[in-house]
Amino acid sequence: TSFDDAKLDPLLFENIGKAGYTVPTPVQKYSISIGSFNRDLMACAQTGSGKTGGFLFPILNQSFKVGPPDVSQTRSNEMGYRTRKATPIALILSPTRELTSQIYEEARKFCYRSWVRPCVVYGGADIGQQIRQMNHGCDLLVATPGRLVDLLERGRITLEHIRYLVLDEADRMLDMGFEPQIRRIVESENMPGVGARQTLMFSATFPRDIQMLARDFLDNYIFLSV
Ligand code: AMP
Repeated sequence: TSFDDAKLDPLLFENIGKAGYTVPTPVQKYSISIGSFNRDLMACAQTGSGKTGGFLFPILNQSFKVGPPDVSQTRSNEMGYRTRKATPIALILSPTRELTSQIYEEARKFCYRSWVRPCVVYGGADIGQQIRQMNHGCDLLVATPGRLVDLLERGRITLEHIRYLVLDEADRMLDMGFEPQIRRIVESENMPGVGARQTLMFSATFPRDIQMLARDFLDNYIFLSV
């Protein structure tokens, strides 16, 4: 099977080809079809399985087709014109600076010449510069949990337009103690609830604490182990 068989959006298909990919990995093949059914996904997949494409492809495939959201009614605009808020439609949480940067670089390739502007934020770097980058457009946001909470508290991001939520390397994020931040983000008042968004969770292992997160964050999910 090749990417031809997946009935992808033509621009996404072209960008995948430019990246040199010809055959989807198993996690990509399944996630593209699960994505088009709008189902939530819990995938047990290791690094090297192609899991980054596994969440980027279904998100971008649908986003390119559906088009940008109407952000003119963004509630946060009441705050006044000086505090611009980022209005992402997709949020990808990942544990480290290295991983977020890698995901962002992949996203840049696949978003090429589309309306979707990727953006990355992580801790330990100048927050002012990240805010300036977000002001250039932030439709798909790749973030570490701590830095995202900081930006939410500063009123720089609104989650009200989120259609897709990804938790990548969920087991590692819990090992690093990010559960309180993750819950703050996912359970925040502005975040569309389970059922109003599509949630994709990836983890190398599936212990009890990950099962709990899956129960709380996912809706009638498909379980995939590759
Ligand atoms: P990941 O598991 O997402 O970290 O991907 C592991 C590596 O495989 C990365 O270097 C990707 O660029 C590469 N890769 C992912 N999907 C494909 C594919 N369908 N064809 C060829 N290479 C891929």
